[in-house]
Amino acid sequence: MAACKETRGLAVLGSTGSIGTQALEVVDAHPDRLRVVALTAQRNVDLLESQARRYRPPLVCMADAAAAGELSRRLEGTGIEVAAGPDGLLEAAAYPLADTVLNAIVGSAGLPPTLAALGAGKRLALANKESMVAGGELVLSALRTGGELIPVDSEHGAIFHCLRGEDVNDVEAVILTASGGPFYGRSREELAEVTVEDALAHPTWSMGRKISVDSATLMNKGLEVIEAHFLFAVPYERIKVLAHPQSVVHSLVEFKDGSLAAQLSVPDMRLPIALALSYPERWGPPFLRTDLAKLGGLSFAAVDVETFGCLELAYRAGKEGGTATAVLNAANEVAVEAFLQRRIAFLEIEGIIRKALDAYRPSPVRCLDDVLAAEEWARAKAARLVDSGRVC
Ligand code: NDP
Repeated sequence: MAACKETRGLAVLGSTGSIGTQALEVVDAHPDRLRVVALTAQRNVDLLESQARRYRPPLVCMADAAAAGELSRRLEGTGIEVAAGPDGLLEAAAYPLADTVLNAIVGSAGLPPTLAALGAGKRLALANKESMVAGGELVLSALRTGGELIPVDSEHGAIFHCLRGEDVNDVEAVILTASGGPFYGRSREELAEVTVEDALAHPTWSMGRKISVDSATLMNKGLEVIEAHFLFAVPYERIKVLAHPQSVVHSLVEFKDGSLAAQLSVPDMRLPIALALSYPERWGPPFLRTDLAKLGGLSFAAVDVETFGCLELAYRAGKEGGTATAVLNAANEVAVEAFLQRRIAFLEIEGIIRKALDAYRPSPVRCLDDVLAAEEWARAKAARLVDSGRVC
């Protein structure tokens, strides 16, 4: 007799985004294993309404209060509760019917829900890397008291799976692969001229706007270095980055004996999302199969840290420690938004973050307020730099 499949309650925070919508495709592929119990978004009322009508979760939340009012009016009579604002996000993150919480919110607004999910003892499938960058120490201390964290980022998902059954003391280094983004191989002179459209045209991944720009500056890789430091307890000196334009090798672990373990697949975020939701099981069939013969060659190269200065800034903030990574992340969020609004040039993103870090003296992270205060300082500093129009 076939074993009875267990159905897991799933809360998707950021369900209207790139990761959120792909997570719902994973749900569609496994309706007997995953049941949506909560959905959240910021302002996209149309899409959240249609998701709510389709998946019928008992709880939905809009982070924006006006959008929540509109959604509540539209869902009247359905029996679906509509929560609002930051408290509503916390309610969804700690929702009793959820076994697993996928945090696919963009930006450090995802940190309080990350802490709430772990505080409620949930399995947290974490796509929101800014949580780890802004408040890695808080996330680790929440994990010590309960909950479980499975990374969704494809690089960290790859490392997580390469480490299954291994002794962490045998790890020599972790190697994060980087596609290099749309500007791989360009000079700084060429980067001075690039547009928002150029930056959003990622060669291998289709993603939200903020992470697409982060990929173009290589800050995405920098955020991932910090995320890897906290997730796998590896010192920064032993976290390496390797350019790999095909995005097929998602990352590697180097062991003491010189062996390299890697995880490979054609780029498709539904795989690491499904891995995080199914762990420790693996669910088939796959969305896409990887035919290595058809892919042809895979290439690797050193990353050009001279041209893409954001990666080095992330290592610097990580090594400074304490609140420095929250400042790095918040200054980046402000600068990326200003670039997307065409208020600053591409290279000014790096200039703003550098100036914010230069002007900041980090302090230890003891509680969420320490992170929020550092972020407030960094956002104000970065906003002033944007307004001044004199960054580089
Ligand atoms: P998107 O911009 O596509 O989606 C973001 C989601 O978060 C949307 O549902 C959005 O709602 C919601 N949201 C935005 N701001 C807030 C806020 N202040 N409070 C609450 N909810 C908010 O982002 P992605 O899906 O691309 O990325 C999500 C996270 O996953 C990021 O941390 C990113 O770095 C990470 N990630 C993404 C990958 C990808 O392939 N996209 C790969 C690996 C990691 P609304 O639609 O209403 O604005």
